[in-house]
Parts: sequence; structure tokens; C-alpha cells
Amino acid sequence: MTTAPARWNEYHTPTALADALAILAQHGDRARIIAGGTDLILDMEGGHTPGVDVLVDVTRIAGMDEIRETDAGIVLGANVTHAQIEKSPLLKKHAACLVESCGVVGGPQVRNVATIGGNVAHALPAADGTIGLLALDAEVEVCSLEGGEVERRWQPLLSLFAGPGRNTLGPAQIVGGFRFAPRTSGQASAFDRIMRPQGVALPILGLAAWLQLAEDGQRIAAARIAIGPAGPIPFRATDAEAVLTAVPAFDDDVLAAVIAAAQAQVQLRTSRHRASKEYRHEMVGVLLGRVLRSALERAQHS
Ligand SMILES: Cc1cc2nc3c(=O)[nH]c(=O)nc-3n(C[C@H](O)[C@H](O)[C@H](O)COP(=O)(O)OP(=O)(O)OC[C@H]3O[C@@H](n4cnc5c(N)ncnc54)[C@H](O)[C@@H]3O)c2cc1C
Repeated sequence: MTTAPARWNEYHTPTALADALAILAQHGDRARIIAGGTDLILDMEGGHTPGVDVLVDVTRIAGMDEIRETDAGIVLGANVTHAQIEKSPLLKKHAACLVESCGVVGGPQVRNVATIGGNVAHALPAADGTIGLLALDAEVEVCSLEGGEVERRWQPLLSLFAGPGRNTLGPAQIVGGFRFAPRTSGQASAFDRIMRPQGVALPILGLAAWLQLAEDGQRIAAARIAIGPAGPIPFRATDAEAVLTAVPAFDDDVLAAVIAAAQAQVQLRTSRHRASKEYRHEMVGVLLGRVLRSALERAQHS
């Protein structure tokens, strides 16, 4: 593949969110946010960002690289890297599926610079960190300038996605971070994926699940299952979740019904570099079995 050099005329490094938003507003479609650059620079080299010649580096903005426990939940800034997530004791306790999904992104060099904000904002339906956040029912913080002041709005994660590689952010909006509820007793999550050993950046299929056990320790009172790629945007297997929460206990028959429901709802496609639609269909079952058993065992021991 021939690639064009990634060229830009201006590279800004604001240290305040208001300044970053103002620069974006000033330059409109010519400007792009850059964080770790592991997606964006490849997009620019591939000629997928025509007309963009202003980069606004958000990685020096104070506070956007923190992971915190707050009254509103577990909060992580958009600039938190996959390596930070992988090592965070707080996230290991509250968000196993996120730790596991970010822990397999690229190799250590990529994880040291690539951010969770970039993973989500790039809006690919198979992005690993995104699938982990979706199972946690995370909200995303969208920041804009209103009358010269920074306005921060929390909205459901899924509202950020418009299609493959397209998010719903305006040209002068920045993702500030993500938040989700802390883990309580009887809750647990897990993630796994099927990946080619080398050569491609995204998985054949990734799957995260979050479960809440009822007080009897058997019935699954609430469940969230996120799968990618399983449609044009990151996907919640709501029909499979409904099957899982409608029965008094989990067993092999329930798993078969959950798999059938998920396989009927997902929108799989064949991708030339990764896998056929038929293979992915089978892998939905394999990953559901692995991830649900793992989350269930963790919930029972929590
Ligand atoms: C070798 C290699 C392997 C990879 N392996 C994987 C993998 O296994 N799994 C996986 O999911 N991904 C993988 N990736 C893709 C990539 O590393 C991740 O998606 C990464 O999280 C992107 O983050 P970034 O900080 O580098 O984003 P950037 O490239 O800086 O930005 C990506 C996009 O998000 C926008 N953006 C960034 N930050 C914000 C913000 N705060 N607000 C609004 N928009 C923003 C940018 O404008 C751009 O459009 C791989 C990439 C490489 C090069």
C-alpha cells in the first residue's frame, strides 16, 4: 500500500480545555483533535482526512488523564491511556471488562500512547476499549463552548456513534471523559476477543459482559452484553440480555438460548482482512460461553 505523508501546517498544544475548544471553533473542518495519534496519523497518511491541516493536541489539558472515584461514579478522562487502564487498581476492582479489553489493544508501545478517548471517538464498531465501556453502561462527557464558558454534558455512550468511523461530535466538541457506576456486591464483568495473531489492528470479534446476580446467587437480575463488530456501531445484544435475565438460573440450555438470541440479532459481515460472516457467527457462541462463565464466576465470588 502506498501512503501519503501526514502533513499539517499548524500543531497546537493547549493546556486548557477552553483554549482547545476555541482553536477548534476557529478552524472548523480544517482542524482535528489528536491524542495518541495511533489512529489519526494512519488516517492522514491514508488520505482519509482531506483538507485537514490544523491539529489540536489535547494530551496536555490538565485533568484529562486521571482515573478517579467520585460521588457520580468511576470517572476516567479521555486522555487516559490503555496502559494506565491496564494497571489501575481502581479499574481492576470496578471494571474488569474494561481492563481486559484495553489490555489487549495493540502492543505495549501502542498502549503507552493510545487513549480511551481516541478509541471511542474513532467510532469503529470493533474498538476494544469501546466494547468494554459499553458493557459497563458508561456515559460520555461531551464538552463545548457556550458563551465563552466550557459546557460539559453527560450522555449515553451509544449516542456518540453515527456509523463506522463516524461520531456525532460537532467540529468544536471534545470528549472530556467517561463515567460508570462502581461495582457492588453480586456484580462482575469480563471481556474476551478472537484476534488474528498479527497484521491487523482490530479483532475478528470482541465481546464484553456485565452481570448482576440476584440475592439467591443463582438468578441473573441484570445483564449487559456488548459485541463488536456486530453492526455499523458498537452493539448491545439486548435480546440475549433479555433471555439471560428471564430464567431462574444459568445452565447450558440457557447459554444455548442466549447464543441463539445473540446470533439472530447481530449484523455480521465478511471482512477481507479479518474473517467471514459465518466464522464470526460461530465465534459469537464461543465468546458468549467464555465471557458469561467468567463473569458469572466472578460475580459469585464477589
Ligand atoms: C499497531 C496498532 C495496533 C492497534 N491495535 C488495536 C487493538 O487491538 N484494538 C483497538 O481497539 N484498537 C487498536 N488500534 C487502534 C488505536 O490504537 C486505538 O483506537 C487508540 O485507542 C486510539 O487512541 P489515540 O489516542 O491514538 O487516538 P488518535 O489517533 O489521536 O485519535 C483517534 C480519533 O479520535 C479523535 N479524538 C481523540 N481524542 C479525542 C477527544 N478527547 N475528543 C474527541 N475526539 C477525539 C481524533 O480526532 C481522531 O479522529 C491499534 C493501532 C495501531 C497503530
